[in-house]
Amino acid sequence: MRSELTIDLGALRRNVKTLLRALDGAEVWAVVKANAYGHGAVDCAGAALGAGASALCVATVGEALQLRREFSTTPILVMGPASNREVAEARDAGLALVVSGDEIPEGVAVHVKLDTGMGRWGISELPAPPREVVGVMTHLATADTDLEFARAQIERFRVATEPLAHLTRHVANSAAALRIPESRFDAARCGIAIYGLSPFGTDAAEDGLAPVLSWASEVAQSKLLHAGESTGYGRRFVAERDTWIGILPVGYADGFRRDLSGTEVRIGGERCRVIGAVSMDATAVELNRELPPGTPVTIVGPGVLLEEHARVAGTLTYELACGINSSPSRARRVVVDAA
Ligand SMILES: *Cc1c(COP(=O)(O)O)cnc(C)c1O
Repeated sequence: MRSELTIDLGALRRNVKTLLRALDGAEVWAVVKANAYGHGAVDCAGAALGAGASALCVATVGEALQLRREFSTTPILVMGPASNREVAEARDAGLALVVSGDEIPEGVAVHVKLDTGMGRWGISELPAPPREVVGVMTHLATADTDLEFARAQIERFRVATEPLAHLTRHVANSAAALRIPESRFDAARCGIAIYGLSPFGTDAAEDGLAPVLSWASEVAQSKLLHAGESTGYGRRFVAERDTWIGILPVGYADGFRRDLSGTEVRIGGERCRVIGAVSMDATAVELNRELPPGTPVTIVGPGVLLEEHARVAGTLTYELACGINSSPSRARRVVVDAA
């Protein structure tokens, strides 16, 4: 068990239902881009749809085509830009595209993206929409941090799209779905929250969400460092006194990033600090006694939230989750599907 990822689809279903309740009538569209934030796109899409999500959202036409093979009739929305060739593929596969310019492709369902303050994709004024246009949307820059700015974006959107209220209007991401009722319109595009991770970087349990992913490894070797001895590249940890350390067979190639040095994992109910430089295939932790090889280690799971690691690494759970390497050559992936 170098690196074992467990995906709890029951938790994912409960998270979708929690969001449906919070949305009070608006639809949940499950955002499963980037392999469902590292959780496995096909598994997570199936579970989300089973729990009541009405559509899938991805970033690329390639991601959408992969899902189309499994879900032949589900609405799938590609949120990122598409090349001409991809537009043709989208048409053939019955996908919907988000368009951020004035040129509306023919023969494919289109959602026009209005830039109301994100300053990224999107047009600043809506054209008179041709019949391909079935939806209008915008994306919030600060739903997790600055409610006032988010509300101003929503108001701008509401005014601009008032004449288009017959189209499907969607604005909210996870943070807005949970905290900004006026963002709801017809549907919310929810990613992070369906995986049970907090869009606010706090404990997702506060919003009634439960983590879907857990990540385990093992102590592959324990060793005693005598005072003055070090572990790892660059001798970044030097023992001040005799210290037991454990070597875990995971490193940054598995997605356990170099900037996670200093974070804590859980071994036998105790929290242990990651010490020294994380290397490509190995990580050292400080122990308070010798442990036998094979002792289980919780990297993410009960008692260790991904949010804590994100804080140590100075990043978001989004980035950590996307970076976890679930390829079978590096990790064992276990899907638990208890109702
Ligand atoms: C990724 C994405 C989302 C989902 O955001 P979460 O914060 O994960 O809920 C919603 N809308 C757009 C346009 C996105 O790119």
